[in-house]
Amino acid sequence: MVELKTDTSIDEMYAAGQVVGKALTAVREAAGVGVSLLELDEVAHQVLRDAGAKSPFLGYRPSFAPTPFPAVICASVNEAIVHGIPTKHRLRDGDLVSIDFGAELGGWVGDSAISFIVGRPRAADVRLVETAERALAAGIEAAVVGNRIGDIAHAVGTVCRGAGYGIPDGFGGHGVGRRMHEDPPVPNEGRPGRGLPLRHGMVLAIEPMLIGGGTDGYHAAPDGWTLRTDDGSRAAHAEHTVAITDSGPRILTAR
Ligand code: MG
Ligand code: MG
Repeated sequence: MVELKTDTSIDEMYAAGQVVGKALTAVREAAGVGVSLLELDEVAHQVLRDAGAKSPFLGYRPSFAPTPFPAVICASVNEAIVHGIPTKHRLRDGDLVSIDFGAELGGWVGDSAISFIVGRPRAADVRLVETAERALAAGIEAAVVGNRIGDIAHAVGTVCRGAGYGIPDGFGGHGVGRRMHEDPPVPNEGRPGRGLPLRHGMVLAIEPMLIGGGTDGYHAAPDGWTLRTDDGSRAAHAEHTVAITDSGPRILTAR
């Protein structure tokens, strides 16, 4: 069931989303060559504590997961697409890092992700990250009353495929609210004009995931969480929590 949020609830979700934006900005500023993923997790955790917010990631255990998630960020490096567990791994020059983060404040969840490059970037990685952001922007632009879920999916998928990148099937966006994952699913590829009509008060996480090598295959790492590209190429991920309103899409996790 898709829950429509009141305008007051959307304002409260914006407050949760601002904690997410602040944490992602802090993580990005702290990231650099030699910094460990666990150190980045601690940076985000401190933002949660300062805001009096909770983590919807810590202890999360969806059906596919062998263990509860042990951290407040997902840190997915290079060929890791999403769901990377922060470790003592220290970032190296040229690493492509995707950070996914959520915060729960006042009973509402915000969910957002960024990808960036540490140190000297490869041109191919810059293009991949920029395309992820462009796909996200296209998805948000399509998140308007009168459109359908398929229009968002089509907008995201067209940018990804148009640039020659792969899209991992089976993972994508979702409704957000009191819980991190609510209905409806928001796929990263689809047919325009199909699916659920978008209405004022729907809040969606839109989150393109791109595989640089252009193939779609992925597999879980031995930790059971991290999804890696089958072709060994690098991946990028971008995400915002967006409210659909009569006056247009409102990015609740804006940074
Ligand atoms: Mg997320
Ligand atoms: Mg999400």
